[in-house]
Amino acid sequence: MIKIERTPTPPPSLASEKMKANGNYRESDVMRQLAEDFHEKCYLCEIDELQSIEVEHLYPHGGDKNLKFDWDNLFLSCAHCNSVKNQGKYHGVILDCCKVDPESVLDQLFLNDQVSVQPITDTKASVMTAKLLTECFEKRNTGIRVMECQTRINALRKTMNLLYKTLEQHSNNPSDRTLYTLRRMLSRTYKFAGFTRAYVRNHLETYPDLAEYVQL
Ligand SMILES: [Zn+2]
Repeated sequence: MIKIERTPTPPPSLASEKMKANGNYRESDVMRQLAEDFHEKCYLCEIDELQSIEVEHLYPHGGDKNLKFDWDNLFLSCAHCNSVKNQGKYHGVILDCCKVDPESVLDQLFLNDQVSVQPITDTKASVMTAKLLTECFEKRNTGIRVMECQTRINALRKTMNLLYKTLEQHSNNPSDRTLYTLRRMLSRTYKFAGFTRAYVRNHLETYPDLAEYVQL
C-alpha cells in the first residue's frame, strides 16, 4: 500500500448520479479517474493488470448516499481484496492512503515466501491495516482464496526476485541500466511498490545511493 494523490475534484457524474433513485457510482469518468489516480493497481494488494476491478468504499456505505457517492470514499480494488476487507472487524478502521502515507506507519515485508505486514505505530488504523494487507495475501480459508492468494504471492515473488537480482547487479557493477530499473521498481506507480520500497528502505546501509528513491 502506498500513498495515493487523489485528484481533488470529484468526477462530475457522482453529483448527478447521487440525485437518481438508482444512481451509479461507477460511471466511466469515475473509473477513468480512479484508474489514473491509483496507477491501475488495487490499493490493497497492489497487483496490476487488474482483471476483476471493483470500486471499494473505504467506509462501507450501507445504503447511505453521502458515503456511497463521496469521491474521497471510493478506492480502486480487486474483487479478492474487496471481499477480504468485507469483514466487520475492518469496518471504519482502515487507514486512508489518500490522506496518510501508509509507508510511514507500516513495514510491508515479504519473508520466506510469505507476506507479513507489521505496524510501526500502535494506532488502531495501522494495526488493523497491517492485518488486512497480510490477509489479502495469506487468508487461504476457502478454495477460491487459496488460489487468489497464491496468484498474488507468485506475482509478488517474481517482482521481489527481479528486485534482488537487480540490486545485486547494481552493487557489483552499477550502470545506467540497473539504476533505471531500480528507479522504476521503487516508484509508487510500480506493482507491489509498498514491498519493493520497504525492502530497500530496510537495507539502506547496503544501498545508500538508493535512499532518494524510497523517501516518504
Ligand atoms: Zn487486491
